[in-house]
Amino acid sequence: MMAVARKIRLIMKLRKSGITDTAVLAAIERVPREAFIPATFHDQAYEDTALPIGRGQTISQPLVVASMTQELKVNDRHKVLEIGTGSGYQAAILAKLCRRVYSIERHRPLLETAEKRLNDLRIRNITCKAADGMKGWIEQAPFDRIIVTAAASGEPPQPLLDQLSVGGILIIPMGRDKSSQFIYRINRHETGYHCEQLMPVRFVPLLPNIARDEPDAVPDEQADPFVLSASFAFQN
Ligand code: SAH
Repeated sequence: MMAVARKIRLIMKLRKSGITDTAVLAAIERVPREAFIPATFHDQAYEDTALPIGRGQTISQPLVVASMTQELKVNDRHKVLEIGTGSGYQAAILAKLCRRVYSIERHRPLLETAEKRLNDLRIRNITCKAADGMKGWIEQAPFDRIIVTAAASGEPPQPLLDQLSVGGILIIPMGRDKSSQFIYRINRHETGYHCEQLMPVRFVPLLPNIARDEPDAVPDEQADPFVLSASFAFQN
């Protein structure tokens, strides 16, 4: 099957699975996913599957990227923070929908590859840095939207809650292990935060500090789950 046909098949699948936001679907259509994955997997670029990108990390499944992006409710005035640049694909999708993306990655080699790809694709409204994203990006805060693309074990990092604008949305996968992870949407109001549980997912863990690019350390503490209220908002 030709790449164009595979892409159309993927878009149809996303629509059937509940992605109704046409701006999100258009962004997925416009960003070449094959540019973000190793050459050996190019024939799978438009399959609805996660793929390895090196350093034990993965580019997320297109349905998960689309769902998280849809739940983020991004518009072209928004300043968005992403934690976990990885391949740069999710950042590229966001860049089509918002004013500016700030993206943080703890593996410097992944970040350098992602930056080169984004540059080759002439996507200019993304600023990246190698750092521990659990600390947020204080110099650029507050953010209208924050998306975390690695799973927190217990609760959202406090700096991310602090750096979210009032009226803002934080999308974050959380769960103690891969079999019990869910995406959560946290809305910040004048008086506090409201947290909703969305779809089940499987993400690589959100880890502290910059990676030394040796085998990754395991997070040393497991905090209590952060759930203020839960309601299912995702049908799949
Ligand atoms: N958004 C990515 C998905 C990458 S997988 C994409 O579209 O390809 C999750 C990424 O989060 C990994 O690259 C991992 O190294 C990174 N990560 C994990 N913990 C982090 C942290 N504390 N700060 C920054 N990046 C982190």
